[in-house]
Amino acid sequence: MDEMSYSEIILRLKESFPNGTVKFRSDNNKAYIPNQIYTDRLEAATQGKWNKSIKDIEINLEHLYVKVIVTVTIGDHSRDGYGLAYIDSDSKGRPKISNTLDQAAASAFVDALDTWQMGWRDLAPHNKMDWGGNPGIRHLLDSDPSIEGQNQVRLANPNHKVERKCIMAGCHKTLSADEWDLLKQVPNLNRNKMVYCFEHLPDHYKRKIPEQYLKAFLRE
Ligand SMILES: [Zn+2]
Repeated sequence: MDEMSYSEIILRLKESFPNGTVKFRSDNNKAYIPNQIYTDRLEAATQGKWNKSIKDIEINLEHLYVKVIVTVTIGDHSRDGYGLAYIDSDSKGRPKISNTLDQAAASAFVDALDTWQMGWRDLAPHNKMDWGGNPGIRHLLDSDPSIEGQNQVRLANPNHKVERKCIMAGCHKTLSADEWDLLKQVPNLNRNKMVYCFEHLPDHYKRKIPEQYLKAFLRE
């Protein structure tokens, strides 16, 4: 696969999906595109010349999460994505590890494809508060893929330009980029509504942050 066909494939990957492709999660109503749809697009765009491999799996029985890193390869180009899922118990109290692994691997796969901006055109209208309304990505949403050219720059975290203020009365401190990123690691917290600086993040949320993220945050 030469560079020319690679960039054509990427343009095809970034194209909009048909209406109705975007679904909403039952727990938090978050917009998503099912990973089968991504797989189908990858197959079609690359004519089957892509590969997926598991780079790393971490099963943490103390904190009950599974983390998976997946590598997706198209031609000479590879991208990693990570996925995290929390381990539930079955009716006998045993941890349901294999389900959780599948879930984490699926979200790692989508995370890797996200680096090629797959699905962004479709998801942006549902994430206006977060990144979809940011002027920094207008070029992607307005552009016609057929005339888009070779400009495959991955956007540096678009969230960082948006001001987030702690909702705690009497605080209203603007969150640092790291505080904002940390909120993403709190399971089932809608960080668009529940904006807390680290100091005011309630303890029951802090306890749910996987140790590695909390440690990394505290080191900074
Ligand atoms: Zn605060």
